[in-house]
Amino acid sequence: MLLDVSSILKIQGAKIELDDNIGLHGAEFLGESYRFSEPLRIKGDIYNNGQSLTLNARVTGKVETECARCLSPVVADVDIEIHELLSRVEDGASEDEDIILFDGHEVELDEIVADNFLMNTSGKYLCSDGCMGLCPVCGSNLNEVDCGCDREYIDPRWLGLKDIMDRRDDEN
Ligand SMILES: [Zn+2]
Ligand SMILES: [Zn+2]
Repeated sequence: MLLDVSSILKIQGAKIELDDNIGLHGAEFLGESYRFSEPLRIKGDIYNNGQSLTLNARVTGKVETECARCLSPVVADVDIEIHELLSRVEDGASEDEDIILFDGHEVELDEIVADNFLMNTSGKYLCSDGCMGLCPVCGSNLNEVDCGCDREYIDPRWLGLKDIMDRRDDEN
């Protein structure tokens, strides 16, 4: 959603109240996938602080994703706070400041919401607090079955190290 901020660009203290729907497409991030079957709701405001624009908003809704431990589908509540500063490229703000740049008189809210969502939520959703996750040996969902694997198993990447340790044991 493009937000037209022309009415507040020149007036210090001027404010736009936000109460809108943000229709995000799904997102993939760090191997996790997120789908939004209904729009997220953004409520808050954006105002001219004299130097830049300040966006303060709360975003709520639902997301479909996977449990970070057992990968089963999860529908979770989204509830994040967004606090960002925005400045026009034309006003000479530099990239290295902690500020979001935009051109002209429109702010791309979707992208800001998506970025904030991903930064806030990555790896956080679980199907339940006590989720047992997947067996590292056979991949079974340990919430559903007790596969009986010996989970003292060592990740293949550590086997080289184990050889060294074993050999050292032999020497003793
Ligand atoms: Zn789980
Ligand atoms: Zn197993």
